[in-house]
Amino acid sequence: MNSNTNHIQTCYKHPNRQTVLRCNQCGRPICLDCAVSTPTGYRCKECIKEQQRRFNNSIPRDYIFAGLIAFILGLAGSYFLIVLRILSGIFALLLGPSIGMLVVKLVRAVTQKRRSSTLNHVTVIAAGIGAGLPLLSNVFRILQSIVVGNFRLLFSNTLEIGWGVAFLVLLCSVILSNMKGFSIRR
Ligand SMILES: [Zn+2]
Ligand SMILES: [Zn+2]
Repeated sequence: MNSNTNHIQTCYKHPNRQTVLRCNQCGRPICLDCAVSTPTGYRCKECIKEQQRRFNNSIPRDYIFAGLIAFILGLAGSYFLIVLRILSGIFALLLGPSIGMLVVKLVRAVTQKRRSSTLNHVTVIAAGIGAGLPLLSNVFRILQSIVVGNFRLLFSNTLEIGWGVAFLVLLCSVILSNMKGFSIRR
């Protein structure tokens, strides 16, 4: 091999295409069609696939544990808000993000940092269901207060459900944004 061979390297998939690019993982020459741009440079499609396979390494019990953690904490947070009632406005705004972070930390610990986009979705949906369940009692009370014409009760329950929804939305968005950060990094 002399230095001249470097000038006529061709794509390993398309031997008729000359290229100056190389995959920064496996080092094989790649043409522009085969190159995937990553924050650390160009990579071939095979190396990207391999990288994603390694990143999506959740095992079945991860989904069960993540779902349980998210469901229980979402449910607990939502119940806590309903018990506190008057204070629920402030607590909804504080509890949503902090319970969200707690869920992410616990899921990360329990799954030993294994990850997949399905795991993210399972966690968010379980948290949403958990946080949403206690609100059903409010829905029931709202219907009841309409039937008996108690508008004070209607107002307080509507307000409560509003804070409950705020808690749910904050909880889920914090979980989603923090888990996405460690799902797939190209
Ligand atoms: Zn490669
Ligand atoms: Zn190519």
